[in-house]
Amino acid sequence: MSGFNTRAIHVGSEPDPATGAVNPPVYLTSTYAQDGVGVPRFSDYGRVDNPTRAALETCLAALEGAQYGVAFASGLAGEDALIRTLAPGDHVILGNDAYGGTYRLLTRIFGGWGITVTCVDLSDLDAVREAFGSTTKMLWVETPSNPMLNVVSIEALSSVAHELGAWLVVDNTFATPFLQRPLSFGADVVVHSTTKYIGGHSDVIGGFVATNNDELMTALKFHQYAIGAVPGPLDCYLLVRGIKTLGVRMERHCSNAAAVADFLSSHVAVERVFYPGLPDHPGHAIARAQMSDFGGMVSFTLKGGTGEARKVCEATKVFTLAESLGGVESLIELPSVMTHASTAGSTLEPADNLVRLSVGIEDVEDLLDDLANALS
Ligand SMILES: *Cc1c(COP(=O)(O)O)cnc(C)c1O
Repeated sequence: MSGFNTRAIHVGSEPDPATGAVNPPVYLTSTYAQDGVGVPRFSDYGRVDNPTRAALETCLAALEGAQYGVAFASGLAGEDALIRTLAPGDHVILGNDAYGGTYRLLTRIFGGWGITVTCVDLSDLDAVREAFGSTTKMLWVETPSNPMLNVVSIEALSSVAHELGAWLVVDNTFATPFLQRPLSFGADVVVHSTTKYIGGHSDVIGGFVATNNDELMTALKFHQYAIGAVPGPLDCYLLVRGIKTLGVRMERHCSNAAAVADFLSSHVAVERVFYPGLPDHPGHAIARAQMSDFGGMVSFTLKGGTGEARKVCEATKVFTLAESLGGVESLIELPSVMTHASTAGSTLEPADNLVRLSVGIEDVEDLLDDLANALS
């Protein structure tokens, strides 16, 4: 099964052998009967394994082109399990426009454990090299990034990381494996908030980590059950269900976002539009090379400053004012005081006149009318 959509629909979701049910059953069980002492039929406990969770992990790993995948209760729980493979004294290099929660986790939780972090502009390869030290173990990349939609070369950064003895971690939440498969460009690990496009309907929180590295897989599996931030079977089922339409949803997210970016680019109230599909976007050429389309997220700044940005966020009617992204419905937000409030005072803090859109899959005319009204 080589096609993306065919894999998304079938891998891990073969008809149930007992009943022929075409969807994976939701195994609401915390434990499994044993045929003899220490001989469980499936697993010894629900935290260790669950068949609905296994269906999700098999499918997502196949979509990322990974041998292994491990599901978690949230994107941050997955990141936490991955960062715990480090030891006190280890150093992580993070993009200077990373997701605020990743920055908070690394600094405010792992800072106390002796992990150090340096934030750099990942498009400046010399600056990335300079940030490396003898204890650097991970180079952590988001592309496209949140909320600035910066795009960096996974291939170039993986060469630098490997040359200097570190792992390249790519947060692929914004692109999804439909648009970009980081392992194929040399990344060692892919992390996801499946809460976003993978679930796709704003009804579930989840995380996922994929890799081809045996040692890392063993550590992640151990952390999954030893720490216990596992997703419940219903959550796993919702994610399996969402994944089946990931391809068609992403196509529509991309075409709607491109139309929104064009519309905003020629609007008098708009200062600047950040969308990798725009030819003048600094990462456009790299995006063309490593992504099959440009995604559903668009950010823009307003000439009228933060007052105007707040007004627009509160004036839209189809775009809902809310955090998160990647669902079928369009969302609008002000990153500096909402999703990225935890970066206040750091180099990651977004401008206060920056508005971020998660462009949904509604009719594009309705989205453009809504923005036109809110900007007028
Ligand atoms: C939302 C998000 C996360 C965190 O995921 P949760 O599921 O909310 O824990 C990590 N990275 C990116 C890019 C995100 O957008």
